[in-house]
Amino acid sequence: MFSTGSKWLKLISVLICLIVFNQVLLTIFQMNHIFLQLSYVMINICTVFVLIGLLIILRKTRKELNKSNQKLNNIFNSLDVALWSHDLKSDHLFINPGIEKLYGYQLKEFYQDYDLWKKVIHPDDLDVLTERAKLIKQGQPVTSNYRIMRPDGDVRWIQDTGIPTYDDRGNLIDFSGVLFDLTEQKEGEARYRGIVELSPDFIAVIRDWKFDFINDAGSKLIGVESPSDLVGKSILGYVSTSDVRRIRDILHEMDDKELEKNRFELQIVHVDGRKLDVEMSVMKLLYEGKVARLAVGRDITERKKADEIIHQMAYYDALTGLPNRNMFKKHLNNRLLNNTGENLAVLFLDLDRFKVINDTKGHSTGDLVLQIVAKQLTEAVQNAGLVSRQGGDEFLILLDDTTNEKVETISQRIITAFSQPIYIEDDEFFVTPSIGISLFPEDGQDQEMLIKNADTAMYLAKDRGKNNYQYYNPSLNKLSTRKMKLEVALRKAIEKDELTICYQPQIELSTRKIVAVEALLRWNHPKYGGISPVEFIPIAEETGLIVPIGRWVLQKVSEQHKQWKEAGLTSLRVAVNVSVRQIQENDFADDVKRTIQEYKLNPLDLELEITESIMQNIENSTIVLNELKNLGVTISIDDFGKGYSSLSYLKHLPIDKIKIDKSFVDDISHSSNNGSIAKAIIDMGHNMNFTIVAEGIEEVQQVEFLMKNFCEYGQGYYFSKPVSADEVLSIVEKEIE
Ligand code: C2E
Ligand code: MG
Ligand code: MG
Repeated sequence: MFSTGSKWLKLISVLICLIVFNQVLLTIFQMNHIFLQLSYVMINICTVFVLIGLLIILRKTRKELNKSNQKLNNIFNSLDVALWSHDLKSDHLFINPGIEKLYGYQLKEFYQDYDLWKKVIHPDDLDVLTERAKLIKQGQPVTSNYRIMRPDGDVRWIQDTGIPTYDDRGNLIDFSGVLFDLTEQKEGEARYRGIVELSPDFIAVIRDWKFDFINDAGSKLIGVESPSDLVGKSILGYVSTSDVRRIRDILHEMDDKELEKNRFELQIVHVDGRKLDVEMSVMKLLYEGKVARLAVGRDITERKKADEIIHQMAYYDALTGLPNRNMFKKHLNNRLLNNTGENLAVLFLDLDRFKVINDTKGHSTGDLVLQIVAKQLTEAVQNAGLVSRQGGDEFLILLDDTTNEKVETISQRIITAFSQPIYIEDDEFFVTPSIGISLFPEDGQDQEMLIKNADTAMYLAKDRGKNNYQYYNPSLNKLSTRKMKLEVALRKAIEKDELTICYQPQIELSTRKIVAVEALLRWNHPKYGGISPVEFIPIAEETGLIVPIGRWVLQKVSEQHKQWKEAGLTSLRVAVNVSVRQIQENDFADDVKRTIQEYKLNPLDLELEITESIMQNIENSTIVLNELKNLGVTISIDDFGKGYSSLSYLKHLPIDKIKIDKSFVDDISHSSNNGSIAKAIIDMGHNMNFTIVAEGIEEVQQVEFLMKNFCEYGQGYYFSKPVSADEVLSIVEKEIE
């Protein structure tokens, strides 16, 4: 628009010159001829009109030009970027208000000092000036990022793009610039970089199967000195070959299904050759403008190892190496679920007179006998099914796709195998089996019924003189075996006042102080004598009697706690064992709440011990445990390691403590594994923020080992056997003195 205006000016100047020239001609040549004079006058008049017309157009154009300049100024002034332009010829500086906003100085200060922009550059970034001068000299536009210091002390990052203009002779005539505030972007970048660099997780950007970026934790995991050793290298060199194809499939699937992210496990090969299990999450992202994948991973090798140990502990019997009860149940359930019409048989086998061997020759001899028995059973069953150890001297065998004939052949083979004595050193032992058999489908539809009926049939085998096998039949249910007699007696035990509770102290290992007591039920029957809870609790659970019994225990314990408190034991907690069967009752949490209120028991003083079998009905257990947790009571997992607990499930339950099962504490001083399982449980438990209690401590070496491995609490005969409520009072009082 500026150039159009100047054209008009030139034209007007030419016309004025023409008029003047005309007059000069007229005067010089004294043109008297009237016709010539007239024509010159006409030309002059026309010229004047044209001149006036042109002047009108010129004014109009000026006005428009001003308007558009104003518009342009408004745009400049309202822009959020900072602009400046320095006309070096006229030494005129133009800057917009964005500069004021960015620098925090007033515009007039820039007009007063053309070098102000240089003076506010952060001292650490002054070297950009040299770089800029070099490029500008070469006639190139230059973009630099640097920090400036505002008068209020703020430091801001800016991006400064300068464009030099040179005239034909190569002189710099104008220099303009555009500046952006990069502070937020830079701070955001720094924040993210910090997170990525400090993260303990593996974080990498991968493009075309190569590392574009990897953080320190990532390079450490792989085992190289610095991330730069990996950038540009193929990731396939560090992934286990067996995983490569699977990962390719996963990534292709992500592309095909347009999945944003995916999570999977893989094995990374450390530079020293070790394989590490890593849990990896992958998502697509744009990295430096190109599509890449962001991979975030965590080393789960230790967790996997612990899982494996737990799995082994959970599904296999440590003594015989046979599958245990859990594995048996799982296997039987699978067979029942996927059954396509084949018959199954469950054999419940109990060793006759085994208790005598144990009592007379000791547990270690008993253990050796059991190992030999396990071997004999496996050989007798061969490939016909699965042999498992239930616990003690009980074994469960599942025969797949069987017939009565096959069942009898195998049962007979077992009995024949046991007709030979077992030799241990110089001793000769005769052990015989009593076998009860239940058949699927006729004797039960689910595993619980099949096992229970095989168990009942086993009692018939015992009744019929032992060393034989018997099939289950419904009339057996009426048979009065010991179990059945106990069941009848147990129904009346509460009202007959045959149940009592004793208490076993729990010790804080570091101070050796009694911090809690575990309530343990005792049943003293007038005819059968003292019956172990190991025998009667399963009967109570099976029959549902555990519900009223459990309620009674909780009330008695709360009442006792109140009495202790009144007698001065103010900081003693009580632990009560709770069966899964109780938790399944709809109003269990309400029951606990009512009892707490009735006896004014501080919920913090109450601990509920639950076994890992709560995992069987994880949904309901989660609800009830959360209700209990909300009451404020402590929840501990009893006999940890005996059942199978998926670590990931445990993590999601509101559990405070785990009690390491006695068998692993025994291992500390009596097994070749030297307590490695106990240690694994302690480490894993601590990782998951659980407090650890060790049960069944009998020896000082066990205490030392547990303390060395940071187990917090202990319980066992080493400290105290279960004692009466009165004895608790005197023991603790003595401790206080
Ligand atoms: P638990 O809850 O694991 O209790 C620990 C058991 O180990 C107790 O056996 C205790 O006397 C025994 N014990 C403690 N320290 C040692 C030791 O150093 N060496 C040895 N050899 N044993 C030790 P108890 O009293 O026979 O109880 C057995 C199980 O019966 C308990 O195991 C618990 O599961 C169950 N039980 C006992 N009372 C109740 C109850 O009121 N309700 C429910 N649901 N179950 C109960
Ligand atoms: Mg317990
Ligand atoms: Mg226990």
